[in-house]
Amino acid sequence: MARGPDPEASLAETALAFRSWLAERHDEFAPYREEYAEELAREVERYRPFQRLLWDEGWTKLGWSPELGGLGGSSMHRSVVAEEIAASGCVNPEILAAIEIVAPMLVRFAPHLAAKHVPAGMRGDEIWCQGFSEPDAGSDLGSLRTRAIPDEGGFRINGQKMWSSNGAVSSWSCVLARTGDPDSGYRGLTMFWVDLSSPGVRVVPTELGSGRSDTAEIFLDDVFVPNTHVVGEVGQGWTAVMHLLQFERGAYAWERQATMHTQLTELLTDHGQSLGPQSDETAGNAYLALFALRSQVRDTIERLSIGEELGPEISVDKILMSTAEQTTTESARKLLYPRLELADTSDEYAQLWRRRWAYSRITTIYGGAIEVQRDLVSERLLGLPRGR
Ligand SMILES: Cc1cc2nc3c(=O)[nH]c(=O)nc-3n(C[C@H](O)[C@H](O)[C@H](O)COP(=O)(O)OP(=O)(O)OC[C@H]3O[C@@H](n4cnc5c(N)ncnc54)[C@H](O)[C@@H]3O)c2cc1C
Repeated sequence: MARGPDPEASLAETALAFRSWLAERHDEFAPYREEYAEELAREVERYRPFQRLLWDEGWTKLGWSPELGGLGGSSMHRSVVAEEIAASGCVNPEILAAIEIVAPMLVRFAPHLAAKHVPAGMRGDEIWCQGFSEPDAGSDLGSLRTRAIPDEGGFRINGQKMWSSNGAVSSWSCVLARTGDPDSGYRGLTMFWVDLSSPGVRVVPTELGSGRSDTAEIFLDDVFVPNTHVVGEVGQGWTAVMHLLQFERGAYAWERQATMHTQLTELLTDHGQSLGPQSDETAGNAYLALFALRSQVRDTIERLSIGEELGPEISVDKILMSTAEQTTTESARKLLYPRLELADTSDEYAQLWRRRWAYSRITTIYGGAIEVQRDLVSERLLGLPRGR
């Protein structure tokens, strides 16, 4: 029976060992069981010690190779860790989730960068963001205009990125830029690993409806990026971004379903007495959406853990994740009715679900709009004719 992180241990043994590790620190971890609505930078600082401890004690070293500072084993071990964190009521640090999305791309396409940055990112010493979307290129990413032109020993990048999650607090960004002809579409793109403290980088936080600046615009004005910071080959940017999106659309959903499951169960356990007459059906719908997501994503993370490349089927995960997120928060709205709509700020629990409800609205946009994901499923998985 494993007592600490053990790459040889089964997933069930890892879950048990980690659960008791969390339980032993139940009181100490009380601050990590609180969800805060404060500014992004303060939230990052609040959860960073937790992220650091998870790394230093070896739990999030599972599934990474020794070259990356890891212990070996399977990434499924880390999925178990993420699920147990959620089940304990603790918050999975969002900046850790962001690293989990980007790191596999570095490992596959730029091992020399991964060796340096994955340990720092996993430990919370570095924060990374994705610089793909632009004012005129979101769903149609292949039309992006940020340009990278060869210069001695590297490239000069000019352009504008927007909606970069965690951009305002990040030190590094993977930036997708055009190295081919202006009309080269997705074939003329290259991925760069950009130091956001480089001369010519300007990061402008974007205030969202929540009042928080969770995303940012990144302006790149003649920014020099050395050849060693090209991720993969020149012109291989589309392959790199598609690799990354498997983790954004699939693996990220694993942690989300675990978190939503805990939140819903807590709502029913703590507030069940006062819930309205339709509560069984409403809660049932949410559980159904969560279990559908869990079943799909369980398969996805297993396939990703053995290095399989997933195709358009990953869009199913993204659709199920957005649907589950919105069904869960909409169910909470109905269950708590009319507190979500009408309660004042003294009702902290209603405020919490109000924030979660608002957050769930964006899940059908980030990582690829749901309408586009549905088109991908209908055309590329089901072979239906193009609608337009
Ligand atoms: C909170 C948040 C965080 C984000 N984080 C990041 C990040 O970290 N890094 C990053 O690079 N980007 C990020 N994004 C950007 C996100 O990926 C894009 O917003 C998304 O891909 C949609 O692109 P768009 O905003 O340009 O909308 P558009 O592409 O203009 O689409 C608008 C709407 O048009 C419809 N539509 C467009 N094309 C099609 C089509 N082919 N078929 C059917 N319908 C279509 C859809 O309904 C879509 O919702 C984030 C966005 C948000 C809101």
